[in-house]
Amino acid sequence: MREGTKLYTPSLSTIKLPTEARTCPNLVGGQWREPQGARLVDVTSPYTGNVIGRVPMSSAADVAAVVSEAKRAAEGWRVAPIKERSQKMFRFRQLLEDNLEKLAHSVAAESGKTLAEARAGVLKGMEVVEFATSIQNLDTGGSLEVSRGVYCEYRREPLGVVAGITPFNFPAMVPMWMFPIAITVGNAFILKPSEKVPMTSVLLGELMIEAGFPAGIFSVVHGGKEAVDALVTHPDVAAIGFVGSSAIAKYVYQLGASKGKRVLALGGAKNHLIVVPDADKDLTAQAVVDSFTGCAGQRCMAGSVMVAVGDVDPIIEEIRRRAASIEVGTGMGAIIDGAALGRIRSAIGVAEKEGARVIVDGRTKAPAESSYAKGTWIGPTVLDGVSDAMDVSGTEVFGPVLSIVRVKTLAEAVALENKNPYGNAASIFTTNGGVAQYVAEHARSGMIGVNVGVPVPREPFSFGGIQESKFGHGDITGESGVEFWSSLKKITRKWSVQHDATWMS
Ligand code: NAD
Repeated sequence: MREGTKLYTPSLSTIKLPTEARTCPNLVGGQWREPQGARLVDVTSPYTGNVIGRVPMSSAADVAAVVSEAKRAAEGWRVAPIKERSQKMFRFRQLLEDNLEKLAHSVAAESGKTLAEARAGVLKGMEVVEFATSIQNLDTGGSLEVSRGVYCEYRREPLGVVAGITPFNFPAMVPMWMFPIAITVGNAFILKPSEKVPMTSVLLGELMIEAGFPAGIFSVVHGGKEAVDALVTHPDVAAIGFVGSSAIAKYVYQLGASKGKRVLALGGAKNHLIVVPDADKDLTAQAVVDSFTGCAGQRCMAGSVMVAVGDVDPIIEEIRRRAASIEVGTGMGAIIDGAALGRIRSAIGVAEKEGARVIVDGRTKAPAESSYAKGTWIGPTVLDGVSDAMDVSGTEVFGPVLSIVRVKTLAEAVALENKNPYGNAASIFTTNGGVAQYVAEHARSGMIGVNVGVPVPREPFSFGGIQESKFGHGDITGESGVEFWSSLKKITRKWSVQHDATWMS
């Protein structure tokens, strides 16, 4: 349990874990199919370490089969009026609401989130679906008489077959950043979910079928590098949305661009929370703790560096108290797997050796219940006295670890933020409007928070960072998403002889 927030699970036993380890099938042309001869990889629950499913590593041939069916489906879908396409998206939204608990349990079971965090992720995805259903009213094209008797019209056209490659940390929300918009504007969409969390995408596929989308408009292909490479280089896939680590985002961006494709690849992050002495103690402490412990720090919007400007010790003490009181399991979820847990522990150990003070140590924390003993657990950890030179201050740890770096001036704090190669989010905690404005104007990040620890822009505002946090142009949601998944066609018309013709039209 934790104070000031509802993002906990009332009791660990309320999370329904699958009792049988089923193999996740691909969704190909509206049919669920297990790819023949594919290597199967275990899916384990971060809660228990138990195998809860299996995922096939699809081959390039499996990907080609999915693309072929999607291509056939895209031909009919692109000419369906947007009102017809939107009707199915309305139905899908209702099905998401009806199945919210089932989806939330699936997300929690495979990703290790608390049940409430899992629910919140599905609800955020639903906001994108709601935005997608409004495109029919927002984006109606345009027409203008550009010279006497000459009319110019623009209309939005889909790209054809498009694909989304997604990370482990939001099994429902990140796919839903992409496919509701891509499909509503008239594309056929292929999802390649993370092989660590393949099960929720099967549920999403079932709901898309139930919503009445034609076979092949939404497809799922499971797998790893081979499937990704095959999708990104397939000549019939026009655009790729990617969300994951920066190294793979850059790789996918470069590979897709080398094939002449449109690619938007969102990467990792190192988000700075700047705290000045006039900040409100309670608001700031709760926001900082929620930011670095929410989703056990496994989100690209987690505030992982607190930049303490001057004397903010009373706020740090409050952060220490609140972070230390979080119960692992119910108040904070689990780490995705043993490799990630090892990486997080090692980052803490190295920082300690380099001279950081561990003022909250979560390394031995785990739920008391023995059935969760094999889960991958760590408690909130706060490192004070972190210096700019330490690895932990610049590397994405992707765990519930807060590094506190102390500086003397606001300018130093902003310079520290701007030095890091990422550019996802930065926040300022202050009661002074001028200070807030300075940071909003000078911080080099795509999303800025003022007294907000996780400054995710809600729909219809678009989501996306800059620098190493994003490769490609535009953002993934909102109007930017509409732009990304479509092209504008311009039509110039004239029906009679023009007596004052200009050299153009
Ligand atoms: P990841 O990069 O390991 O995996 C993402 C996807 O890439 C998966 O579908 C995976 O199968 C595929 N992939 C992995 N290795 C590959 C390779 N060598 N070649 C081709 N494809 C490959 O990321 P992850 O660990 O699943 O997710 C965590 C990362 O995602 C963090 O860095 C986090 O910051 C980032 N993330 C960013 C955002 C954002 O909006 N910027 C949102 C969520 C997560």
